[in-house]
Amino acid sequence: MRWKEQLLKLKPYQPGKSISEVKRQYGLSEIVKLASNENPFGSSEKVKKEIAGFAGKFSVYPDGYATELRTHLAGHLGVKEGEVILGNGSDEIIQMIARGLLTSETKTVMAAPTFPQYKHNGVIEGCEITEIPLVNGAHDLDGMAAAIDDRTTVVWLCSPNNPTGVYITEEELTAFMARVPSHVLVVLDEAYFEYVTAEDYHDSLKLLRQYQNLIILRTFSKIYGLASFRVGYGIAHEDTISALEPVREPFNVNSLAQAAAIAALDDQDFVEECKRENRAGLEQFYQFCDNAGLSYYLSQGNFILINFERDGQEVFQYLLERGYIVRSGTALGFPTCVRITIGSKEQNQGVIDVIKQYLSVDTVISK
Ligand SMILES: *Cc1c(COP(=O)(O)O)cnc(C)c1O
Repeated sequence: MRWKEQLLKLKPYQPGKSISEVKRQYGLSEIVKLASNENPFGSSEKVKKEIAGFAGKFSVYPDGYATELRTHLAGHLGVKEGEVILGNGSDEIIQMIARGLLTSETKTVMAAPTFPQYKHNGVIEGCEITEIPLVNGAHDLDGMAAAIDDRTTVVWLCSPNNPTGVYITEEELTAFMARVPSHVLVVLDEAYFEYVTAEDYHDSLKLLRQYQNLIILRTFSKIYGLASFRVGYGIAHEDTISALEPVREPFNVNSLAQAAAIAALDDQDFVEECKRENRAGLEQFYQFCDNAGLSYYLSQGNFILINFERDGQEVFQYLLERGYIVRSGTALGFPTCVRITIGSKEQNQGVIDVIKQYLSVDTVISK
């Protein structure tokens, strides 16, 4: 068989160890997973009720246009229904964009390190990939603008950026958009939008009125706590959405997921509460890191990247054996760091206590 050559270089996504696997391996009864930026508070009670009473017929295909969800979403965002595209997670929208715009004749530009799916999909489509290193955890937008050429069709921005949590300001984004030629689609991934508290964070929906070559990606997987249902969406000019629609699988968002997302949207109090708890949790980590002399990036997401200035894998392993699953920075492009999802107050304190233990044991050993 003649698989695309580039597939041979790609590894399938490596999921972290499962909770039951870790329990068995280390003989632990309690595990706290702070590895995938999932919502530690689960999802809204309204979603649980909706799913428990779900009356749809399982033998019938979902509404391919997700009409009701689309109406709710457009109303919530204050955009037209035709300005929205739904995906089986925003991962699928990333894939649709890559499929629709990237070929072996084209080039795509992104930051590094950033969310790995941009590059992954670019590689599958066989395009040239230009990665512009982050500066202090932030996108180098000047460098990225300078890297755009006639063959470039897509530029990826992630704000707040995963894994650093650093965001792009309104001023920076506006200046960047003014420099990008209109033939280039700018993908602005706002997976952590609802967690942002920075006042100078971009108002990207406003920019949509001005730029047809901008698409904003958001998701129900993070603050809404619906990662298992797989619902994400893109917002762009109607013509951009229309161009992308043929790439979308006809029934990509399943019926239960559509119902869950509608119920989740309906509970903005839950979202507000999670946002507040997350901000308090970030402060908890900042204070600990400051006291412990650990450096980190100020985060606008629901995670923090902490620099231990040693092999992140070692810190990861130490925490794992004591019941805390976090993300080693090794696979994220920050080999001396660990990325920790902000949990509940108790979970945060728990992982902080184990890190304290790690740091003190380590100081004793190295003396
Ligand atoms: C989690 C995440 C996504 C993926 O979200 P899904 O909707 O679950 O596919 C996309 N982008 C970034 C930056 C993320 O961190």
